[in-house]
Amino acid sequence: MKNLLYFTLMSIFAVATFTSCSSDKSNAEEFDWVIDTFDDVKIIRYQVPGFAELPLQQKQLIYYLSEAALCGRDIMFDQNFKYNLAIRRTLEGVYNNHKGERESAEWLAFEKYLKKVWFANGIHHHYSGDKFIPEFSQDYFTKLVKGVPADKLPTELGSVEELLATLTPIIFDPTLYAVKINQKEGEDLLQTSAMNYYEGLTQAEAEAFYNGITDANDPTPISYGLNSKLVKENGKAVEKVYKVGGMYGPAIEQIVFWLEKAAGVADATQRPIIEKLIEYYRTGDLEAFDAFNILWVQDTESNIDFVNGFTENYGDPLGRKGAWEGIVNYRDEKATERTRIISANAQWFEDHSPIDPKFRKPEVKGISAKVINNAILAGDAYPATPIGINLPNADWIRRDYGSKSVTIQNITNAYAEAAKGNGSNEEFVLREEDRERMAQWGALADNLHTDLHECLGHGSGQLAPGVKGDELKQYSSTLEEARADLFSLYFMADPKMIELGIVPNEDVYKALYSSNILNGLMTQLSRIEPGKNIEEAHMRDRKLIAEWCYEHGKADNVIEYVKKDGKTYVVVNDFEALRGLFGELLREVQRIKSEGDFEAGKALVERYGVVVEPELHAEVLERYNALGIQPYGGFINPTYTPVTDKDGNITDVEVSYTQSYWEQMLDYSQNYSFLPTLN
Ligand code: ZN
Repeated sequence: MKNLLYFTLMSIFAVATFTSCSSDKSNAEEFDWVIDTFDDVKIIRYQVPGFAELPLQQKQLIYYLSEAALCGRDIMFDQNFKYNLAIRRTLEGVYNNHKGERESAEWLAFEKYLKKVWFANGIHHHYSGDKFIPEFSQDYFTKLVKGVPADKLPTELGSVEELLATLTPIIFDPTLYAVKINQKEGEDLLQTSAMNYYEGLTQAEAEAFYNGITDANDPTPISYGLNSKLVKENGKAVEKVYKVGGMYGPAIEQIVFWLEKAAGVADATQRPIIEKLIEYYRTGDLEAFDAFNILWVQDTESNIDFVNGFTENYGDPLGRKGAWEGIVNYRDEKATERTRIISANAQWFEDHSPIDPKFRKPEVKGISAKVINNAILAGDAYPATPIGINLPNADWIRRDYGSKSVTIQNITNAYAEAAKGNGSNEEFVLREEDRERMAQWGALADNLHTDLHECLGHGSGQLAPGVKGDELKQYSSTLEEARADLFSLYFMADPKMIELGIVPNEDVYKALYSSNILNGLMTQLSRIEPGKNIEEAHMRDRKLIAEWCYEHGKADNVIEYVKKDGKTYVVVNDFEALRGLFGELLREVQRIKSEGDFEAGKALVERYGVVVEPELHAEVLERYNALGIQPYGGFINPTYTPVTDKDGNITDVEVSYTQSYWEQMLDYSQNYSFLPTLN
């Protein structure tokens, strides 16, 4: 599970309280954080503080694991949509070989479209999942493609004419493959979604296939379907497994090559973990994947850590298939202190959770939490990346072995630096006292919210006997995120937090409450196109919480809409009462999860989490546009260059921050692209 950064007002004035070392601050002054903006995104460069001081062995490990991560990039494109690689390669073929002008409005529109395709790992918006349509004409596209030597285009789709015949409607017809993931209850979610995890089957057929191989009574069920595409062949449902020699084999072979190098420099703790992952990639055996996760989750000491594999299932409308993801990171020692305190007290939080006592975990196991800095981002985590992660996802491994939870400090810091002084705080926060609290405590509150969400929230609670955990279907992601958020929001205001020395005063939770409600009810609407509703799970979660609390606190005016000078504001009038409401809703969401109550979960999400009020939406968009803020951010990676001696041994790894967005994307497409155009 991952925690995505929403646009927080607090980040704007993020103070340096939690930058990990003082040298960051001096860097921050000259460093160009935002290196590109287009459409609704900004591209941010993140730093890797302390990398240069790591021991050689750890630098080598980061380097090899980073190479392993970059090699999987194409997989994510293909998983998102079958023709994404064909489209990307065609666009890159044009970009690299275009001989004509590069200044006209149509050419600039072409460049913008290519940047968007890179950013989204395909032709559907990375967050909303809606297909975006180019701002240049079909004729222009035809002219561009025909101007490129045929051997610079993906030849798997036939002649240039055939390539154009296939791709043109896919790119330009707004009704074709319009959404990546459809979640509308009552429609066939597979036939109406463009994602590439299933082909040629109805939803009912896919569900029947997996129901047929799942044993409801297995206490340690393997994650059926996680690493495969389900297709229909000769009238039968068959899995095409992602592995060496299987689907995505050419990319996975490269990943394995670098993992072997990594295993070669890893210590006695990490070597068997990496070797188990290699075994899984070679065999595609999901039991090996479970074995890998069990080893991985128990390694809480290593300074370097990684995610490499088919991981999150948000991209599958049935919540089963794993999107390929690669992350390499190292611990931020100083900031990790606060998460050590939280995880050491995990049982206290569980025992005091406002949920029905029978759904509390009697014994909280192995919650390990740390604050990390990312060293590389790839696949599902690139360029748009989470700010917190909690893995593994298999419920039974979490139950029996615990989970690892991270807050990603250098990404949060980069967001905060990139957002400084953009004016939205002044625009949307009515009361001076709230603005001041956010400015002073926002960064700390944000980071702690991620800590609690990941470290305690996702891991808390237990299912009732006989409940499998997949009953909530398309509502499960939203409800799970809401559960983790509510757990965090509720406890952030607990006197225990001050007692433990994690927060200095009550202003921290008040800053968090104000910004969460404001974001859930108003500011996050800046990410939604006019006329659309909310689809993304984290956004639905935040809207659900804020709307529910607004309605249930209305009689006491806990949350209030205030109109001033024709503008709408949201204020929290009673912070304590709001905390009570968070607790009440947490109790209900936990009950829904624990009992697998699909109907109640559906009612909650559909009533509070989805529908956008058009007038308020229009106002938010107008005020945002006036500020010129991009609501989304994504990141480019540093470049790691090994320094070798005359025998080829790596004696150091140097890090640089010089690549532009264009350079990095073209570099990756040229040097880390291993898959055929159609898989
Ligand atoms: Zn989460």
